[in-house]
Amino acid sequence: MSKLNECLNRIHNASLPDLKDLERVLSLSGKDELNELFFFADDIRKEFCGDGIVLRGIIEFSNFCFRECFYCGLNKNNRKLERYRMNKDELLKAVGYLVSCKIKTVVLQSGEDSGLDTPWLREIIREIKSSFDIAITLAVGERSALDYKVWREAGADRYLLKIETSDEGLYSSMHPQMDFKQRLDCLRVLKELGYQVGSGNIIGLAGQTLKTIAQDILFFKLNDFDMIGIGPFIPHQNTQFGGQEKGDALLSLKTIALTRIVTRNAHIPATTALGSLDKDYRVDGLKCGANVLMPNFTPQPFRKLYEIYPQKRCINEPVGACNFCMDDMAQNLGRFIDYSKADSFKQGRVNSNV
Ligand code: SF4
Repeated sequence: MSKLNECLNRIHNASLPDLKDLERVLSLSGKDELNELFFFADDIRKEFCGDGIVLRGIIEFSNFCFRECFYCGLNKNNRKLERYRMNKDELLKAVGYLVSCKIKTVVLQSGEDSGLDTPWLREIIREIKSSFDIAITLAVGERSALDYKVWREAGADRYLLKIETSDEGLYSSMHPQMDFKQRLDCLRVLKELGYQVGSGNIIGLAGQTLKTIAQDILFFKLNDFDMIGIGPFIPHQNTQFGGQEKGDALLSLKTIALTRIVTRNAHIPATTALGSLDKDYRVDGLKCGANVLMPNFTPQPFRKLYEIYPQKRCINEPVGACNFCMDDMAQNLGRFIDYSKADSFKQGRVNSNV
C-alpha cells in the first residue's frame, strides 16, 4: 500500500480526519498521485452512492437580491443587471416542462429577494405537490424560522444554503451586513424542521488557503449535510472581486474527491460552475466523487439574466437540451441517469417519498 493510500484510508475511516492530512492531499500535484486520489474517491462514490447520476432541475425564478456578496453578479450594487421575477404561471409552466422531461426534483432558486412573499411561495409549493409527484428543493437564502416552517409544512423537502467558506473572518470579509452565526443558525433550523439540507463552498476566494478549504471539508463532515455543492470562483466584472483570478479547476476537483472520501454518501453535484471554466470539468467531477448533475430549466429570456458569474454554461441552449447532453455524459462514463427523486442517502432523512 502506498503512503498516499494509507493517508486516504486514514482520512476515510476517521470520525474527524486530521487537518494536516487533508491539507497534504489538497496540495498534491503529481499525475500519479492525483490519479490515485481520484480513483480512491470514485470507488467510495460507487460503494456508497452507486452508479446512478442523479438529476436536479433548476428553475431560477427571481434574480432580485438585497445582499452585497463581493463575488456574485446578482448583488444589489450591480445596477447593470436587468432584474426579473417570474410570475406564478411562468413558474408552474416551467415545472410542468421539467416533469415532462422525467425529472423528479425541482430546485426553486432565487437571489435573497425581499419581494419574495412567503404565502406566494407556499401556494406554489402546494400546487406543485398536488399536481406532480416530485421533490422540491428551495434555495432562496436566509429567511426567518417561520418562513422555513411554513414552506416545509406546505411540502418543501430540501433546502440549499451554501456556507461559501467556513472561516468566519473570511466569510465576513466578503459578506457585508451578513452574520456568519446567523447563517449557521439558519442551517440548524432547517435541519430541525426536517429538511434535507445542502451546503457547500467556493474554491478560489481571495484570502482562502488550503487550510481553510480543509476546514470546510471538516465542517461538511461535522454537519453531516445531505448535499454538498463545491464550485470554482468565477469573477464577474460588475462586482468587488471582478479583477480577481478564477478558481483553480484542479483544486476544485481535489476538494470534491476529498469531500466524497470524508462524507461518504452525501449527494455531491458536478456543478455548473465546474462546467463553465476553460473546458467542461463536470465529467472530471463525476469521475472523482460527484454523483449529481443540475440541468437548467429556467425559461428564456430569464435564464441569461441569472448571471451570478459570466459565461455560465448552457445559457443559450433551448430548455430541455441538457437531457440529451447528460444522457451522453452518463453513457460515456459507463453509468446511468437516475430518474428517481433520489432522496438523501443519510439514514432517517428520506422524506419526500412518503
Ligand atoms: S450570493 Fe446569493 S445572497 Fe449573495 S448577492 Fe448573490 S444571490 Fe445575493
